[in-house]
Amino acid sequence: MALGPCGALAAVVLLGACFKGPPMPAMDGAVMEVRRSDCSLRAGDEGYGDTVQIYWFGSGCHLIQLGDLRVLTDPFVTNGFQVFSNASDGERVKKSLGRISPPEAVLVNHAHFDHFLDAHAAMTLEEWREAEVPLWGGRTCKHLLAGWQTPGLMDRCHAIEKPGVIIDRRIGGGHLRVTAYASRHSPHFKCGLTLANGVVDQPRTTPPTLMTDFPSGEVFNYLIELRGGGKSYAVFYLGAFYDLKELPNSMPPAGTRIDVAILTAASHRNVPGYPGKHLQRLRPRHVVLNHFNTFMAEKPDEQLAILGKDFVKLGEMTRKVQEVFVRECEKYPEFEVIHIPAITRMEGKDLGRNVLRIE
Ligand SMILES: [Zn+2]
Repeated sequence: MALGPCGALAAVVLLGACFKGPPMPAMDGAVMEVRRSDCSLRAGDEGYGDTVQIYWFGSGCHLIQLGDLRVLTDPFVTNGFQVFSNASDGERVKKSLGRISPPEAVLVNHAHFDHFLDAHAAMTLEEWREAEVPLWGGRTCKHLLAGWQTPGLMDRCHAIEKPGVIIDRRIGGGHLRVTAYASRHSPHFKCGLTLANGVVDQPRTTPPTLMTDFPSGEVFNYLIELRGGGKSYAVFYLGAFYDLKELPNSMPPAGTRIDVAILTAASHRNVPGYPGKHLQRLRPRHVVLNHFNTFMAEKPDEQLAILGKDFVKLGEMTRKVQEVFVRECEKYPEFEVIHIPAITRMEGKDLGRNVLRIE
């Protein structure tokens, strides 16, 4: 049966629609490989002293470890949808962060609840308190923590007054150096709007409980340089990216050696040039994507969408990253791997599943 002109047109439109689906996961010039994830290396295991291990607990919460040197970023492990209050889940903190030996430092990118809600619970874990684990972040972080009025806690909280080197010291047989770069929170919407975008300029006298009690505050990205076991690594945590034309100093200068860049996927559509321009500057060997889970549900597989809507568009973000090293393969030969990790589950003391090992 002949289609006739209208039928032929409908067929063309239909075929056109079929070809408008999502692009291939891997771009021309790239390969995506999925492999079994690793478990933690622990003291005594081969490679323990000279392998960087990265645990990811969702949002911006990572443990970055080389041998016995440990740094934790953005303490937040509480999942679940909370409407009227934002309460830290103390049990969950104990079962995750509480199973990690005390880190040398806790570094906070900004004070929104999904980066900071569990800071008090983490800082007051018995072992962390005894080890006097210090925390660095903006003044807002310190003022929020003041609300609990916990004896001794303020002595361990350091408000970063100006960007630059905040830690530079030998620890055991290793060395840890941390440099803070002032940034601004990436907009939540394309129009440039950032939610809860303010500071706390006085110490609180009660613990924060509402989502609006956690404004973004001052924002810092961190270059974490770890040395030990005869090796050194530079890990850059870009928790808040911004237009580099406006904030060129929100990241290390071009030419700084970066082994691993941890890049935030959330809101990637809302900042001009991200992540392409940022990657061209950083030129890391490894890219680790984070903050693509919505943390509204407990099961990791239910954390990529809210009510079925994919807000983060991780596939698009991954292709944007691929584009840089495919397009710039001669100018950017350092590139090795993009890691899209599963959320780390702690199964014992210093023993996690879904841990990235980078050499
Ligand atoms: Zn935020």
